[in-house]
Amino acid sequence: MSHEDFPTENPAVVTCGLPYANGDLHIGHLRGYIGADAFNRTLQTLGQDSIYVCGSDMHGTPVAVNADQQGVDPEDFALEWHDQYEETFPKFNVDFDNYGHTHDETNTELTQEIVRTLDDEGYVYEKEIQVAYDPDADQYLPDRYVEGTCPYCGEKARGDECDEGCQRHLEPGEVEDPTSTITGNPAEYRERTHKFFEVSAFADFLTDFLDGLEGTSNARNQPRQWIEDGLQDWCITRDMDWGIDYPHGDDDTAGDDLVLYVWVDAPIEYIASSKQYAERDGTDAFDWEQVWKGDGEIVHIIGRDIIQHHTIFWPAMLEGAGYNKPRGVAATGFITINGKGLSTSRNRAIWAKEYLDEGFHPDLLRYYLTTTGGLQQDVDFSWDAFQETVNGELVGTVGNFWYRSLLFAYRNYEGTPETAVSEEVRERIEAAIDEVRENVNDYSMRGVGQAATRLAQFGNEYIQRNEPWKLTDDDPDRAAQVIRDCVQIAKAVAVLLEPITPDKAQELWAQIGEDGEIADARLEDALEAPPRTFDEPGELFEKIEDDRVAELTAKLEERVATAAADDEGTETESDDTAEDEAETMTATENLEPLLEERIGFEDFQDLDIRVGRIEAAEGIEGADDLARLEVDIGFETRQVVAGIKQLHDLDELPGTRCVLLANMEPAELFGVESNGMILAAGDEADLLTTHGDAALGEKIQ
Ligand SMILES: [Zn+2]
Repeated sequence: MSHEDFPTENPAVVTCGLPYANGDLHIGHLRGYIGADAFNRTLQTLGQDSIYVCGSDMHGTPVAVNADQQGVDPEDFALEWHDQYEETFPKFNVDFDNYGHTHDETNTELTQEIVRTLDDEGYVYEKEIQVAYDPDADQYLPDRYVEGTCPYCGEKARGDECDEGCQRHLEPGEVEDPTSTITGNPAEYRERTHKFFEVSAFADFLTDFLDGLEGTSNARNQPRQWIEDGLQDWCITRDMDWGIDYPHGDDDTAGDDLVLYVWVDAPIEYIASSKQYAERDGTDAFDWEQVWKGDGEIVHIIGRDIIQHHTIFWPAMLEGAGYNKPRGVAATGFITINGKGLSTSRNRAIWAKEYLDEGFHPDLLRYYLTTTGGLQQDVDFSWDAFQETVNGELVGTVGNFWYRSLLFAYRNYEGTPETAVSEEVRERIEAAIDEVRENVNDYSMRGVGQAATRLAQFGNEYIQRNEPWKLTDDDPDRAAQVIRDCVQIAKAVAVLLEPITPDKAQELWAQIGEDGEIADARLEDALEAPPRTFDEPGELFEKIEDDRVAELTAKLEERVATAAADDEGTETESDDTAEDEAETMTATENLEPLLEERIGFEDFQDLDIRVGRIEAAEGIEGADDLARLEVDIGFETRQVVAGIKQLHDLDELPGTRCVLLANMEPAELFGVESNGMILAAGDEADLLTTHGDAALGEKIQ
């Protein structure tokens, strides 16, 4: 099933994954909210009736655990963060039509109603399960209250999610070797009666749903594997006080002290927030029921760690309760900082407040985050790369074109010369408009931004090629034509760029004498003639200087080093990541020089390099540095000897994905046969791995 392209006649809702109300917003959050905001704004330039809604996720153990640690009530704790988010998002021009939270009345009522419907329809049943329990704290341990080992991939996992490994959702009782995060003691498993949602009944529905789903390929493809592996029913209650009460019926045997699992009520906030918007503005303005129960367009933009929740559980819940299903799910990649994983605990992040305090305009970050990578790709942030993008594309291409064209027009014509736009330029603008249409329908916000920047680049070439400054005396008509074209291109760039840099586009709009809000403009308005006169223009973007970048980079490095040092002070063993950090500060002079001699592709093909996973690791007796590893490479498990005994905590290695040279000649070391070579970088043996989900045994090529 394929969908009719945007714009459609139906109303649309764009949402972004809810932020847990438990900590400061950073660039990793902003990427999603800005991307979804730009997507919604672009739909509106197409003439699509569309709203953008979100809310704070108040429930669940992420909030409860942090509130406990601070000794405050979870509601007060979460509301404080909620207020801060509500204040911060608009500062980045993230323009929600409604921003609610999951603990408000609308969401609570809607959640209980939907769960009751699922129950009435026969999709909810009771089952006795093993639940982790901390006898010292005298408390059950749902989700983040318990840590252990993922039963699927062997990575360290939290109670409900294998967030460092295979990213699977974990059911209560699944995590192995559970320890309580309250006391650090081993947890016991105890029997409890809980409520289950019968996700397995929706396998056929979900397969069809995925066939018709738009968005990013990761969100469409990963869930197919989960369906093939067999869907598990989903425990939807927790032994906690904080959350929405389970709406009990009369014949329940489960205790009435259960609350709903946070992932039940969180996505329902998308509906509740749409409803709040419609009720505030009147259903004439927006029919939330048509969107959610009729033929509306629902688009979810989320982080890639919550694909399963949005492509399996959520559509099954919607279907079971008689709601409409999403049209698109776009899952964004992660943000890295200077090539390393963003880490809030290590202070390796760019904080929302910090960015604004440094005095940068929000549109610069919006542009960087939207255009640096596709939605699905990981995007690296460094102040250097940020400077390069701002100075190169916004200052050098867009700003330069805007300023030189408008200044020339103002000085020579006091505005827009009185003539029609040339055929060449009209066609070029039309092509850019088509490009935007195609890209937004492909969920490529990068493509939308590039369409605008490339049009500005064309403008620069056009003015350079036609040299109007040489024509004003000899051929005034021709000069007027060129400048007329340039003013039109400038206006078109502003219209196309508005979804990404709304403030700057608005400033340009005012500079060319347009009234009102550029946010109300449609793509076709890019071809409408600008007003005849305008005032002297100003420059819209400012270069970021090198010394500013050096200062910001040093600040970031220092702060990460301080966090690492603090961390090391509290831990007895030295910390790998802290050491890695120092590593990045060493200069390239410590590196082995590059080889001059080149090899052919055939030489490379002789290397049979495969994706593997370490299954077991132990030191070899008598050898100081050598460890014996068992590496699963899909076809078979290889025994390999590696010189990493001192460099890695061998107990931590099982479950680690690695890269293995499989056709290395076998060798015997300390009486142990080594059948392959595990690849690692540098003196610290930083193990190579893959960043996507390549299967074990896949060839590196
Ligand atoms: Zn896992």
